[in-house]
Amino acid sequence: MAARALPEGPAVIPVCPPRPDNESMRIETLRERLRALGAGPRHENRVLRLWSQALPQDKGPRRLQDFMPRALLAELPRIEADLAALARLQSAHPAQDGSERMLVELTDGQAVESVLLPREGLCISSQVGCAVGCVFCMTGREGLVRHVTSGEMVAQVVLARQRRPVRKVVFMGMGEPAHNLEQVLEAIDLLGTWGNIGHKSLVLSTVGDPRVFEALPQQRVRPALALSLHTTRADLRAELLPRAPRLTPEDIVDAGERYARESGYPIQYQWTLIEGVNDSQAELDGIVRLLKGKFGVLNMIPFNEVGGLTFRRPSWERAAEIARHLHRRGVLTKLRQSAGQDVEGGCGQLRARATKPSGRVIPLQAVAG
Ligand code: SF4
Repeated sequence: MAARALPEGPAVIPVCPPRPDNESMRIETLRERLRALGAGPRHENRVLRLWSQALPQDKGPRRLQDFMPRALLAELPRIEADLAALARLQSAHPAQDGSERMLVELTDGQAVESVLLPREGLCISSQVGCAVGCVFCMTGREGLVRHVTSGEMVAQVVLARQRRPVRKVVFMGMGEPAHNLEQVLEAIDLLGTWGNIGHKSLVLSTVGDPRVFEALPQQRVRPALALSLHTTRADLRAELLPRAPRLTPEDIVDAGERYARESGYPIQYQWTLIEGVNDSQAELDGIVRLLKGKFGVLNMIPFNEVGGLTFRRPSWERAAEIARHLHRRGVLTKLRQSAGQDVEGGCGQLRARATKPSGRVIPLQAVAG
């Protein structure tokens, strides 16, 4: 079956560098601030541990004044207030499947989405907007506004932990983590150590970028990896993901397989299933050719129809038939709904509804219709 003509992506992608004062929202800058107040490694790690686990700074049997440097003790309330301001809940939208979409306001008034997932999972955003411009994604339509800092990423986890336990964090929300890799890895390092999240339960999702494949094996906290495949055809991939690195599907699977063997974690290959675009028999044959025998799992997610995008969602029966077909041919395939579908289908829609053209967030109640 021939793929349908694809609608064009946004013509102009505004790409802005991160604001200079975002430096003050990085974990590394917080560490420097603590050290300047006389913190030793024990004090520094204590502050980071309690913050990232959403616990109060005076938690524990010992009085702070008995062991904290005096300057740090005096500054602690201001530090706590600054950390709390990194991510504030703007609105929360529970769904029938147990997930909850949150619109999160950052210090400068920008907003990102985080999603509490069933079974103590959380999906967080690594950028405001995204430069990859995937044609089936709301976030991709607005281009990149700015990076989310490592502090703001951990703050999304803290905010979520104030509502529910969180034992798994996936970097699959707004943004391409490979484009903000240094800060993503900084957040992963803290979450996988003092944040008490298992390394295998941290999942970095990327469209496939050589920088990710080079950097991950060198980390002390190595996350699991999700790779967005979406098609087995290099030409169609260039249309669907117009600003992704020009790696072929074969290149991506080869690099993924190396990391899977090295880390011991299976790769999660992501496939947004779009009717008439990437659901042909030729694509299914291509999936078997690429993924059979590989250390990975294929997550197939039927496209969520959203206003402004002309793609169609296949029926659940058709998607289930495809998953069974692939399973029979030796590819471990899981058919998934995107979380919180009944409230606001895909990533980027809450923000799209709740932002003015300036990109600053306005109260969601004011635009809810
Ligand atoms: S699907 Fe992911 S990588 Fe593609 S535009 Fe959306 S946020 Fe960016």
